[in-house]
Amino acid sequence: MKLSSPRAVAAFVALIIGAVIGASYLIYATIQAELDLLLLILLIALGCITSYIIIYFSLEYFINNKIRLIYRTIRKNKLGGNDTKEFIMSEDALEKVNEEVEDWAKENLRQIEELRAQESFRREYIGNLAHELKTPVFSIQGYILTLLEGGLEDQNINRKFLERAAKGVDRITKIIEDLDVITKLEEGRLNLNMERIDVVELAAEVIDSFEMKAKSRKIDVRFNTNYEKSIWVEMDRSRIGQVFTNLINNSLNYGDENGVTEVRFHDMDKQILIEVSDNGIGIAENHLPRLFERFYRVDKSRARNEGGTGLGLAIVKHIVESHGQLINVRSTAGEGSTFSFTLNKV
Ligand code: ADP
Repeated sequence: MKLSSPRAVAAFVALIIGAVIGASYLIYATIQAELDLLLLILLIALGCITSYIIIYFSLEYFINNKIRLIYRTIRKNKLGGNDTKEFIMSEDALEKVNEEVEDWAKENLRQIEELRAQESFRREYIGNLAHELKTPVFSIQGYILTLLEGGLEDQNINRKFLERAAKGVDRITKIIEDLDVITKLEEGRLNLNMERIDVVELAAEVIDSFEMKAKSRKIDVRFNTNYEKSIWVEMDRSRIGQVFTNLINNSLNYGDENGVTEVRFHDMDKQILIEVSDNGIGIAENHLPRLFERFYRVDKSRARNEGGTGLGLAIVKHIVESHGQLINVRSTAGEGSTFSFTLNKV
């Protein structure tokens, strides 16, 4: 029998007391050799009823004063302080408290773990940010100091050093702009302007914008086939343009000379799968799970030399996800990488 409601406990103990009283009377009656059945029933009934009342009210008093307080504190913490739910004595109350305390402890543990993860993410993020800013700031400082210490009058270096310092400023500006975009995307403040767009035309436009860079890297940026028909997709044009820009830019930064960057579209019933693929340096498998994190880089020095902020893929992921879609990467070190994402067809 489960005895977790105060009523059940009181009844159970009262029955035992009744039985003890009855048994005592029976022993007494046997010794005296006279048994009054009415008295026996009366004694048992009286014993049961009195002990039930005493036990029940004592329990209620105890629960009211002690457990209800704990129960309320837990519920208050859990539910933000609005809970006025009373303890119902006839219910499986102690069991319920037990469950609630367990739930509460689990929830607290989960929150603590979440806070720990956030804290370590925050620490790493601030460390990365400081590191990213340090490089251009130190270089600007170096050029300006050299100029102040006489370089300004030296016609051979003054212009060159000023230009380099300006480049450092550009880099800081780019990091701040990218961070701003990510923050807005994360906070959902960047409203998407969803339109019906021909994704083939948009990709072609971005490919064209990379003509110079592709030429200088000797990389052929092209579609895998001649897409003669338009593919109509629902998207925010400028944001998805940014996705193509970042992915194609990366394929040029990390692609091999005389290599190929290919843009492909695959029809998938209600969606279009878009792929940007290169046959460049590729990415080792152990890096793939963290690739879309802010400031995550595979080859740090190469990535910085390419002028990236380390935020390109984080932005891409946010944009694709804010369209309610998914982004994925397949890559083999030394062979190349394929980034793919989906968009809804119109
Ligand atoms: P970055 O500004 O450093 O390029 P991204 O967020 O765009 O930052 O990319 C993160 C890292 O992922 C890069 O530093 C690079 O190591 C790796 N990566 C991205 N795209 C490619 C690619 N197409 N081929 C190989 N590595 C890539």
